[in-house]
Amino acid sequence: MPDVPESVLYIIEKLNKANFQAFAVGGCIRDRMLGIDPKDWDVCSSATPEEALRVFADDRIIPTGIKHGTVTVIARGEPIEVTTFRTDGEYSDSRHPDKVSFIGDLISDLKRRDFTINAMAWSPESGLIDPFGGKEDLSERCIRCVGDPEIRFREDVLRVIRGLRFSSSLGFSIEENTAQALRNAAEMLALLPGERIFPELLGLLSGAGVKRALLDFPEVIAAIIPELRPAFGFRQNAATHIWDVWRHTVESVAAVPPDPLLRLTMLLHDVAKPETCSADQAGTPHFYGHQQAGAQIAAAILERLRTPGVYRDTVPRLIAMHNKLLPDDQKGMRRLLADIGPGLTWQLIAVKRADAQAHAPKARDDRIELIERAQAVLKALLEEGSCFSVKDLKLGGEEIASLGVPKGPRIGRVLKLLLDAVIDEQIENDRDKLVKYAQELINTDQL
Ligand code: ATP
Ligand code: MG
Repeated sequence: MPDVPESVLYIIEKLNKANFQAFAVGGCIRDRMLGIDPKDWDVCSSATPEEALRVFADDRIIPTGIKHGTVTVIARGEPIEVTTFRTDGEYSDSRHPDKVSFIGDLISDLKRRDFTINAMAWSPESGLIDPFGGKEDLSERCIRCVGDPEIRFREDVLRVIRGLRFSSSLGFSIEENTAQALRNAAEMLALLPGERIFPELLGLLSGAGVKRALLDFPEVIAAIIPELRPAFGFRQNAATHIWDVWRHTVESVAAVPPDPLLRLTMLLHDVAKPETCSADQAGTPHFYGHQQAGAQIAAAILERLRTPGVYRDTVPRLIAMHNKLLPDDQKGMRRLLADIGPGLTWQLIAVKRADAQAHAPKARDDRIELIERAQAVLKALLEEGSCFSVKDLKLGGEEIASLGVPKGPRIGRVLKLLLDAVIDEQIENDRDKLVKYAQELINTDQL
């Protein structure tokens, strides 16, 4: 096992010197074997938290979760979690340094882990310890439960969404029995609090394998977000769509860059289509107002999932705007920038592009052409430092006050009128011209 950081080796050695067993374990071993940089390194050990506190008395150590058997040691500036061997939530009581019980303790600890690829350990002394075939499953790119999948998913339903998240983020398939049990257990996900599910959902959505995960396991998404269930198989206008609402949704998720907020927006962007559907005389379905209705439903979903504020603020706004025609002229684009700012404008372009890509080819090509023109205009405006907010004006509040406008809301009104005039190309963003225009406004008392 190459390339284990010094900090982890230091911890393992120090525990070994004090006669405890210790291994790097779990996700970090999986990631290292895949050549990925692990998010965090975990060590499991025969030492109890109290013993670990003594072993690392000279190091910085945080008693993170003494009750759960975990302490965090800061080794070489890096926080490493050290957890006592566990067998189904209980500490091991046999900590004799003879080989048999040591392997026994470790194997019990590995046995309670969710998937074979997450159930491997390593130490400099023992090398890789892989009792459940994790290495083989890694090379076959396969997610498989440790033990009986039906039992494992029932024990802890979070494993359902974790399994799908690993499948999506690693691009792995899910072994048949594991897949079947995962489906059987999916509806129990509704019992979990949103804050536990949401990070896993984001990981799933941001993965390279998101399309397969969503198409093969729609019941998992429906358990978390039942509002999406009516979209499954829901027919759309055949002139612009080749897919039902759910397939279109999934294609749009896969088409948007793997930014969690954008992926989540695409997942929910058409959530209100089924309930806003009406047919015209020819029987063609229309979805008037689905953007606004969708924004409201999305807000309620995000609230229920206890998502961080940034998602609750931005996702419904993007959904409400997703059918807005993008301006491809400078004036219109400056107006959009003034209304929503550059960050949201870029996000809206990404959303509209992904939405367009998931349309029928003819509808798609026209839409993408417009989006590209809009994007070019936006880029040029931002590059030239174009004026689209009051703070870009070459005239400030102080100077307007010095023209004789009393301090207070009237200054803000002058600035807003100046900005409107600049955006509409009535005047240039030039100090003297702005002063002259401001004086006219004041004289004609348009305030
Ligand atoms: P990530 O790369 O997202 O950190 P990870 O596999 O390291 O993935 P963690 O949540 O950090 O996930 O958990 C560390 C290890 O703990 C896992 O690799 C797995 O062995 C075990 N584990 C975590 N959650 C569960 C669970 N719900 N059931 C069983 N084992 C789990
Ligand atoms: Mg981890």
